[in-house]
Amino acid sequence: MTPPPPPPQVRRGVGRAADLLRSARRAVALTGAGLSTASGIPDFRSAGTGLWERLDPMAVASLTSFRYNPDAFFGFLRPLASQIALAVPNAAHQALARLEQAGRLVGVITQNIDQLHQKAGSRRVLEVHGNVRRATCIVCYREVEAGPYLDQFIRDGAIPRCPGCGGVLKPNVILFGEQLPEKSWQQAQAACRSCDLMLVAGSSLEVLPVAKLPMLALDRGAHVIIVNQAPTYLNVRADVAIMGDVASVMPAIAEQVLHA
Ligand code: ZN
Repeated sequence: MTPPPPPPQVRRGVGRAADLLRSARRAVALTGAGLSTASGIPDFRSAGTGLWERLDPMAVASLTSFRYNPDAFFGFLRPLASQIALAVPNAAHQALARLEQAGRLVGVITQNIDQLHQKAGSRRVLEVHGNVRRATCIVCYREVEAGPYLDQFIRDGAIPRCPGCGGVLKPNVILFGEQLPEKSWQQAQAACRSCDLMLVAGSSLEVLPVAKLPMLALDRGAHVIIVNQAPTYLNVRADVAIMGDVASVMPAIAEQVLHA
């Protein structure tokens, strides 16, 4: 099935974005939940389908609630963990991986915990909100590979326990009220300060502190491209702002950069 042709303003935006990417020397991408909705992973904020429309984030996914009521967190995580395990990258992830492989993109900073960038072939991925590959005991801080625990958990709902002390294992994802992982966060800020182009894709730039990252790039004179379904606070300052579906816009941009 051939998708309908994009509206003229999207076509013009794609062309300008491709021109900027071709002339950039150090382009960096910043991605959020909007990139993975086409892979079946729900966006935290989209009206109607967003996870937080149905759940109070502070009640299930804050650090404090995790400590007092891990059952609520794991109840929330279980369907999400199954979706992440089954999800495959979509055309937007693939477009970013192709741009990196062609030397047009230094790497990706992502708010997503789903590892779809890596599955698509991206090599340099900074996961500033953590990931579900590893988990840490909240009592003795022992760190383990999360895979076997999550598989078991998805199968029978048993809350993962530390093999050392029996404490609850918390997947290494950042909860509300929790600091970002120090190393990835430092690297992300450095990447934003040294890039000459920042491509924001599938993020509404609403979650702090990540939402401030493009400002670091702008302050150093970098160009900014934003591709997102909804407007962001930075659209007014972006060189190019395309409001559209990342899964069709990103491949169109990559195609023009790589084959024009
Ligand atoms: Zn422990």
